[in-house]
Amino acid sequence: MPTFYPTQIQTYLQCPRKYAFGKDRDVKAKYAKASPHMVLGNAAHDALQNFFDVGRVPPAERTVERLQDLFRDAWAGRGLFARNRYKQREAREQAFAGDSAAEAAWGRKGLDMLWRFFQTADRTAVPLTAEQFHEIWLTEHVTLGGKIDRIDRRPDGTLEVIDYKTGKPPRTAPGAPAPPAAPSAPRAEDASRRVSRALGTDDLQLAAYALLVTKKFRGRVARCTYVFLNDDLDLWFEPTEADLAAKEAEIVGHCERILADRTFAPSPNALCPWCDYRAICPEGEEWCRSRGAQTEPGDEIPF
Ligand code: SF4
Repeated sequence: MPTFYPTQIQTYLQCPRKYAFGKDRDVKAKYAKASPHMVLGNAAHDALQNFFDVGRVPPAERTVERLQDLFRDAWAGRGLFARNRYKQREAREQAFAGDSAAEAAWGRKGLDMLWRFFQTADRTAVPLTAEQFHEIWLTEHVTLGGKIDRIDRRPDGTLEVIDYKTGKPPRTAPGAPAPPAAPSAPRAEDASRRVSRALGTDDLQLAAYALLVTKKFRGRVARCTYVFLNDDLDLWFEPTEADLAAKEAEIVGHCERILADRTFAPSPNALCPWCDYRAICPEGEEWCRSRGAQTEPGDEIPF
């Protein structure tokens, strides 16, 4: 029985063919290359996972320098991350092709976003789990899975699900900042700029994580939060039982649709210019050509 992950379901809803390409190991290995944003995101997640692991970094040793050193080590695949050495080397080569100036700019961007996060983060937090895979059965045919960045137990015993984001928030999100600016040097006043806003309940990824945690840990998820590391922005929602029941039915419906799909037809859309599989997708290529999209696969990223 296949396991369905929220991000994959979202991909299917965006374009069934892209989903199918992503499920084909050979196609994925050939066309889905690492991007600068992916290298940055993975290193930031690895650094934060270890930073909040009391076995690795006791709360008294949680300094911004330690967090940034972990990020550098994760990026290089050394120290605690030595097992990733060859994987990181390959990802960096794919993402930067030896352009050390570009790599340095992306690395500084990561250091800056962790600096910003650190200014307002709860440095005493001891997560229940961090960066762990979780799975539950929803029906005889549908298993829901997800790698959840962080689950915290709050003082009242309820749970909070946290998902770190290194990309931009959706432009339509409440509190979303103006379009991206170039990475900037940390400023002291940034520490007080963090914004926390409620998000609608229709976000599939956070709702799926709430469902996973509620069923697996048999606890009440009081809040689910996206932490946008680079934008001083938290977007959250507080799910009710009714929200979760509705989202469970919706997710099962999507998964059953995927299971029944025999064609995985392409669905050209505004993200085609950045799709890894555009080179083997005539419909996506035609969509881009007809709209004059100049972006070649791998040149840019949509944030
Ligand atoms: S290029 Fe567009 S239509 Fe083709 S697989 Fe990618 S997202 Fe789908």
